[in-house]
Order: sequence, then structure tokens, then C-alpha cells
Amino acid sequence: MEERGANRTLRFVAICLGALMIVVATATPAGLLGGASADRPATEDYLSGQKQTGEAAARPPKRDGYSFLLSSDEHVYPARWCAQTTIGYTVDFSQTASVGLDQAQELLRWEQVFNKWNRASRGAYSFEYLGEKRLPTVSKNSGREIDIDQIGSGSIGITYVYGDENLSAPTDYRASAVNGRTAGNGGLQVVSRGDGPAALVGDRGFIMIDAEDALSLTPDGLRKTLYLHESGHALGLGHVDDPNSLMHGTLSESRLGVGPGDLTGINELASLPCTQ
Ligand SMILES: [Zn+2]
Repeated sequence: MEERGANRTLRFVAICLGALMIVVATATPAGLLGGASADRPATEDYLSGQKQTGEAAARPPKRDGYSFLLSSDEHVYPARWCAQTTIGYTVDFSQTASVGLDQAQELLRWEQVFNKWNRASRGAYSFEYLGEKRLPTVSKNSGREIDIDQIGSGSIGITYVYGDENLSAPTDYRASAVNGRTAGNGGLQVVSRGDGPAALVGDRGFIMIDAEDALSLTPDGLRKTLYLHESGHALGLGHVDDPNSLMHGTLSESRLGVGPGDLTGINELASLPCTQ
């Protein structure tokens, strides 16, 4: 629904295809990308259902090891969550047991991941686990995608899914975005309140984890890195070329945690003015 003038509300979702490589011993980034298209953020207008090719093409500059998932010449600031607020998160564990992931350990891992982002942002972002919540995928655009409307306002929805080439998996937990070697997908829906500085304020985040790929990753090594990377997208960070940054488009043992560029990026997002 669209209102007039400065009060109009537009909704975007910024989707950035996830971390790619499953097992990587040493980093040679140029050889690790699964394909240029998988590394490119895209935006989609949920109201019109049309791809916003102009914004997708206007890829943000990759400055100093960080970039933003969604920024636009039409807005003063990039998509971000308001700092000094608590962001809730829910987890759909319905597919963990069937692949052999321990639910309690997985929850602990997510708590550790969000604690890392809390510290990285110097306390600007706080996180609170809101409990389990089902988050199946929906059929859309000739594939299966996250259903952003099932995520509560002000929170991040996490769900474990399968690539949609896995025909033995439950249909409503298949996701096109994690096909092949893509292990995760994360993004952010923002609400735009006119053209002022408050535009593009985070409203809902999402994280899809390929359950089978997650199982194949060292639990407190690359698996946690995958979760950190995808939650970085849900907080508004985009991919970078810097091989030292967590937000590089591939997984590598040589960058397991938040790097200097990631720190700069998250703190820049957290420093932007934000009114609700
Ligand atoms: Zn990514």
C-alpha cells in the first residue's frame, strides 16, 4: 500500500546471495567464486513484484573492506537497523533434526553469533532470542523464496532449508537461493519513510541456512562463519572483495571472524541517524 507524500511507505527487500564454498583449506579468492551472478546483490520490490534493475545495477562501492547491501541515490543513507534498539530473532528448527543438527547447539551458536555482532557494533545493536517460529518458503518468481511477511516486525527470521534441487526434501522448506554450492542467504527488508534521513530503516531481516551444507561445515569453524556472514547481510552489510573481510562472498578458513572492514562497516551503519 502506498500513501501520499512524505508519509508514503515503500517496502524493499534486499537479497544478497550467500556464502558459497563448502570446504576451503586456503584462500585463493579469485578461484572460489561460484559465479558472478551468485555474488551480486539484488533488490526486489515486494509491492510491484518487479525487479528494480536500476538499484541492482547501482552496486555500492566496495570501500575499504565493507559495503552496504542496499543503498540508493534516492536516499541519504543506506538500509540499516536503528542503533540502540534490540533486534529480536526467531529460529525455525523444524528441519535440523532430520539432517543431524543438534538444536540446542545450533541455538547456542546463534547466540554466540549475535553476541559477536553486539560487540562488533560496540553495543549499538542488541539481540534477543524470541523463540522458535516456523518460517517455510513460498513459491514465487518460478522458484521458492523466503516469505518475509511471516517474520515479525523488528526481528530477524532464521530458517534451515534445502536447495530446491533436493526433491526428497519437504517442498515448503526448499529454497532456490541455496541451490548448488550456496550455503546460505540473508537479507533485510526496510521501510522507507519519505525521502528524509530516516528512509530505509530496517524492519525485517531473514537468514536461510542450507541445512545439509551447514552439517558439512566444522561446527565452531566455518559453520559459525557462515552464520556470522548471513547475519551480516541481515544487518545491512553487502559483499566485498577484501579477502580479509567476513563479508567476502566465499567461505575460507583464513577469515573465520569479523574483520577490520566488517567492523568499520557495521559501526558506520550504527552511527547513522535514525528516527522511528
Ligand atoms: Zn553473502
